[in-house]
Amino acid sequence: MMIIMRHGATPTQVQKVIQRVEETYGLQTHVSQGKERTVIGLVGDIRRIIPDQLLRMEGVERLMPISRPYKLASREFIPQDASFTIGSATVGGDGLFIIAGPCSVESRSQMLETAHAVKEAGAHALRGGAFKPRTSPYSFQGLGEKGLELLAEAREATGLPVVTEVMSPDLVPLVASYADVLQIGARNMQNFALLTAAGKSGLPILLKRGPSATLDEFLLAAEYILSQGNRKVMLCERGIRTFETSTRNTTDINAIPVLKSHTYLPVILDPSHSTGHWEYVSAVARAGIAAGADGLIVEVHPHPEEALSDGQQSLKPQRFATLVKQVQQIAAAVGRRVPDFAGVTP
Ligand code: PEP
Ligand code: MN
Repeated sequence: MMIIMRHGATPTQVQKVIQRVEETYGLQTHVSQGKERTVIGLVGDIRRIIPDQLLRMEGVERLMPISRPYKLASREFIPQDASFTIGSATVGGDGLFIIAGPCSVESRSQMLETAHAVKEAGAHALRGGAFKPRTSPYSFQGLGEKGLELLAEAREATGLPVVTEVMSPDLVPLVASYADVLQIGARNMQNFALLTAAGKSGLPILLKRGPSATLDEFLLAAEYILSQGNRKVMLCERGIRTFETSTRNTTDINAIPVLKSHTYLPVILDPSHSTGHWEYVSAVARAGIAAGADGLIVEVHPHPEEALSDGQQSLKPQRFATLVKQVQQIAAAVGRRVPDFAGVTP
């Protein structure tokens, strides 16, 4: 439910309405100050509201139900695009945010070589999994805390903020003590305890879409994080499972404009997992930017043939550098830009 205030309603009138809603009805409010008018969003059990009481208050124009199942994630609720900083870059707004790095952290030399290369190519953040969600229990599971230490060392060397996955609620404090952004993997999109714990950390979250999740389910997962008071959520489209077998997943390009319409949260495309083959990654990445994505997360490995996970979909640094140049041109065509990385120069 939203309370639409009249054009020209005074701050005192707005304040009185907020007070009534919070104190009398025990609901939480979220105030959105638009150019024309103020909108007060209500969170909680709205059955407690007596509409007539609110409608009689000074400055109130009308009450409007929120048509979507999620609230805090809804553009109806918060019309302005979100923007927040990660390291020295901004996500949201006209600048694109590019994350790159290997699927898994494997060794010090691999991490440092990749971090320097992706920074040189124009990335704004470094990715790398220390805890890996693998389909098979016999596959490489990640270096764990050692991997986190190597990520921190690569950040130290390059200034790039670090994006890394956390797989369970009990690991949130450990991973959060090293990471700049917590990644919640596709397989964990509906791990509600993890969403809540990650939300509580206060760190920015990269939330990946489940391979068979609808966009409503995806946004309801984001709602769990937002409801912890953490508004720094990036939504990541990483491909969905369809009948097509010639690629690992099917990139749901539609999801980008649909999400941009239904929510104000930034949308990041992962063309590596959505295609599963390095040959297709750049084409799909370009399509994502043209479709309005706010950024990319791309797997890059200096020696993909030696990678312990996802080598087949990893770009070599040189190809990634070419992709960033192409993205700069596409960005310009759609009114965006790729900001220079303004991190620490070692
Ligand atoms: C990854 O980013 O390496 C990963 C495991 O992604 P997803 O959760 O999208 O499969
Ligand atoms: Mn991967």
